Amino acid sequence: MLELISHVVQISARRDRTEINSAMVDALLDLFHPQRLTIFRCYAGGKKTMVFACAGAGPNGQFLRNAYLPDRDYCQAIERDPLLSRCRKEMSVVLDILDDGSHRIVFPVIRLDEPVYLIDLSLSEEFSADQRVSLMGLIEYFGNHIALLDYGEADTLTGLASRKTFDKHLFELLGRAATDEVQGYSGSTPRRRHGKPEGTHWLAVCDVDHFKRVNDDFGHLIGDEVLIMLAQAMRQSFRFDDQLFRFGGEEFVALLQPTEQEFATVTLERFRKAVETQIFSRVGHVTVSIGFSALLPNDTPTDAIDRADEALYYAKRNGRNRVECYEKLVAEGKLTAKEVAKGEVELF
Ligand code: GH3
Ligand code: MG
Ligand code: MG
Repeated sequence: MLELISHVVQISARRDRTEINSAMVDALLDLFHPQRLTIFRCYAGGKKTMVFACAGAGPNGQFLRNAYLPDRDYCQAIERDPLLSRCRKEMSVVLDILDDGSHRIVFPVIRLDEPVYLIDLSLSEEFSADQRVSLMGLIEYFGNHIALLDYGEADTLTGLASRKTFDKHLFELLGRAATDEVQGYSGSTPRRRHGKPEGTHWLAVCDVDHFKRVNDDFGHLIGDEVLIMLAQAMRQSFRFDDQLFRFGGEEFVALLQPTEQEFATVTLERFRKAVETQIFSRVGHVTVSIGFSALLPNDTPTDAIDRADEALYYAKRNGRNRVECYEKLVAEGKLTAKEVAKGEVELF
């Protein structure tokens, strides 16, 4: 009992999701001695649900991955694991008895009718009733702690991440980009199956065209509804591991996982077209303009946003309802490259 409380205190003291996962793994190992343990983060996409093995312990010891950046090498479609898939469908604890007689149990952590985490444990023997109650309690506590974090970080209207989490996400992402560049792909497991980076990260800024008219003609509440539907279209157009934010009133930001400029354009065009063809109740058609730019290792959040914004303004000046790439516009001489201030220290 005291041990359980001490672990709960450890988890409750943390705000960083990677650290929370680490504390949860410590607690589960210490209290229940599973043979194997995986904490899966679930990403419910438009078409399929992906799971990311973000922390756990196996034959090679404990592992911990950045909870903010799902690593594609450790992600899979949930259908590939029938027990995980069953857990998601039934939305309750599921059990399987393995060939060696051990028990595999998967617990869902559910939010809004979708599991957000799956906790997968293999145990050598049956639990006492007391242990079962402690385990369920600990997992429920973990879910409540994550729910509080989600609540604090999400934009209340659309449910996308809010602007205040953007800097953290961007630094996590740039941190990894920089480490990859300096250290290559060393470590026990290769970071990429093909052994080389697949393009760069991209930052896209998306702004609704003539949104003021929507508010003026139909009222603010209908305007809000359009923003909610846009966020849904956004979730469906991007990959599960691209990060989406509502940045301000009618402005959205997407951080795209590494890819070539060409594929980033395809993704953003797909979103632009999805919005263009959607019928918004009462309002009818709405369009968006998008500007995007490659993330550079030394970027501050404002640097990257400023470049994407330049491309966005170009799109606005040239007819709206279009996607423009900053680097492409500079290469074509349509924009002048922004001066990068070297050696300047920003103090405030
Ligand atoms: P442009 O194509 O140049 O982007 O034109 P615009 O009218 O969209 O641009 P502008 O930035 O002038 O106006 C944005 C408007 O978005 C202003 C405000 O009425 C509206 N807006 C901002 N935040 C919200 C919100 O949370 N809900 C609603 N309903 N409207 C908002
Ligand atoms: Mg705007
Ligand atoms: Mg606008």
